[in-house]
Amino acid sequence: MISMLDHCNIVFDSLENGTLIVDEECTVWSWNKWLEINTGIASETIIGNNLTAFYPELDYKGFQRKIRTTLRLNTPTFYDASLSNRFITIPRNKITTSLLTSMQLQVTISSYIPSLKRVMVSIYDISDMHELKLTLQQRMIEITLLNNELRREKHIINTNLMIVKTDCGCLVTDVTEAFSHFFGFSKEELLGGSLLSLFVAGQHEVEILQMNECLQKKQKWSGEMEVLRKNGVKVWMDMVISPYLDENDEATSYTAIYHDITDKKRVELLSVTDPLTKLYNRQKFNEVCEEMLMRKHWTVDNTFGLIVADVDHFKSVNDTYGHQVGDAVLIAMADTLTGAIRTSDILARWGGEEFVILLPDVDMEKAALAAEKYRQAIEQMNIPEVGSITASFGVTVFSMGDTQEKMVYRADLGLYRAKKNGRNRLESVVP
Ligand code: GH3
Ligand code: MG
Ligand code: MG
Repeated sequence: MISMLDHCNIVFDSLENGTLIVDEECTVWSWNKWLEINTGIASETIIGNNLTAFYPELDYKGFQRKIRTTLRLNTPTFYDASLSNRFITIPRNKITTSLLTSMQLQVTISSYIPSLKRVMVSIYDISDMHELKLTLQQRMIEITLLNNELRREKHIINTNLMIVKTDCGCLVTDVTEAFSHFFGFSKEELLGGSLLSLFVAGQHEVEILQMNECLQKKQKWSGEMEVLRKNGVKVWMDMVISPYLDENDEATSYTAIYHDITDKKRVELLSVTDPLTKLYNRQKFNEVCEEMLMRKHWTVDNTFGLIVADVDHFKSVNDTYGHQVGDAVLIAMADTLTGAIRTSDILARWGGEEFVILLPDVDMEKAALAAEKYRQAIEQMNIPEVGSITASFGVTVFSMGDTQEKMVYRADLGLYRAKKNGRNRLESVVP
C-alpha cells in the first residue's frame, strides 16, 4: 500500500514545473524533481536550508513580502521573474540561439499551510513564450518599418511615374497622380474611360495593331506613340504595356507605364528634317533606303523604285528673282511632291534643288508613271513672281544584289539624260 504521503510525493515529483514549499523566512521544506533536474541541487541538500544561501541574488525582502501577502489574503500571488542562467545547471542547447540571456519564469505563490506560514511556490519556465513575444515584437517593428517604406515608395511612384491600370477592355481602373497631372485630366475624368481615347485618331495604326496582337498573346508590348493631352496638345510617349496574368494564366488587367519623350522626339525629328522644306534630309533618306534594301520580300516582279528630281534652270530663278524667291520655289516644289506621292512613299531633299523619292512595291513601269505624275504636277504649279517651273527626272528600280550607290548612280544617269534630252522629262535606267 502506498501511503498518502508517498502518493503526494509522487505527484509532487511528477509535476512538469518547479514546485517548492517555503516558509516566510524562506526556509525550504520541499523541493521537487523538476527543480533537482533544472538546478542541479538535490532536495536533501536544500531542504531545511534558506533559499538565499543558494540564490544570493534573490530579492529576499520582496519575496518575503509576497509570501506574507499571500498568507494574509489567502489567495495566490503571481509574478514574472527573470533568473539568470546560473539557475540552470544542465546544458540547454536552445539557449545558444535564444534571444534571452536569462531564463524567464512565471512564479505563483499559493498559500499552503497558513498556520505554519508555509507557501507553495510554483515555477513555470515561460522562456519559450517570452521569446516568442520578443520575436513577435521585433517582427511588428520590422513590419511597421516596411510599411512606412512601402508608403514612401508608393508616394514617389504616384507623384513621379505615369502609370495607368485598365481592365481587359482598356477601360481605366486606376491612374497615378503623375499621369492625370501630366495629361490635364482629373482622376475621376479618367476612371472608367477608354485609354484609347487619348490616341490621335488615324495615327499609329500599325503600332496599335502590333500592340493588340502582343496583348492577345499575353505578351508585353512597348513602343512610341503620339497621344493627346486634355488641351489637345500632342505629346510623344514611350509606352510599356504588360498584361497581368491570374493563376489560370488568363489576363485580367493591363498596366501601362508612360514616359514623356516629346523632347527626344523633337531633337530626333530635327536631326532628320531639312530645315527649309521640312522634308526628310539626305541622312534620313540614306537610312530608309538602307532599310528598304535589307527587306526580304523583294522579288524579280516586286521591287521598289528610286526617282531623282531636279528643278530645271534653277540658277536663273535665283539670278532673276533672288535667293529668297528661289527658296520659296523649293518649298512649293516640296509641297507639290508631298501632295503627289503615296503615303507609303518616302520623299526627301537630296540637296540643293534636287529631291529623291523611294517607292515601295513598284516596277519600272509604275515608277515611270509616278515620275510622270510628279512632272505634270510641278509643271502646273503657279508660283508667285516666278510663274511656272519645270523639273527633270531620273527613274530606276531595285534589282537583286543592288546597293544604294548603284541605284543612285542609275537614277542620276537617268536625270543626266533627261537634262541632255531637253529637260522637263523623265528617263528610266533599267538595272
Ligand atoms: P539644270 O537645269 O541643269 O539643273 O540647271 P540648274 O540651274 O537648275 O542647275 P545648277 O546646278 O547650275 O544650279 C543649281 C542652283 O541651285 C545653284 C545653287 O545656288 C542653287 N541652290 C542650291 N541650294 C539652294 C537653296 O537652298 N536655296 C536657293 N535659293 N538656291 C539654292
Ligand atoms: Mg542640280
Ligand atoms: Mg537644276
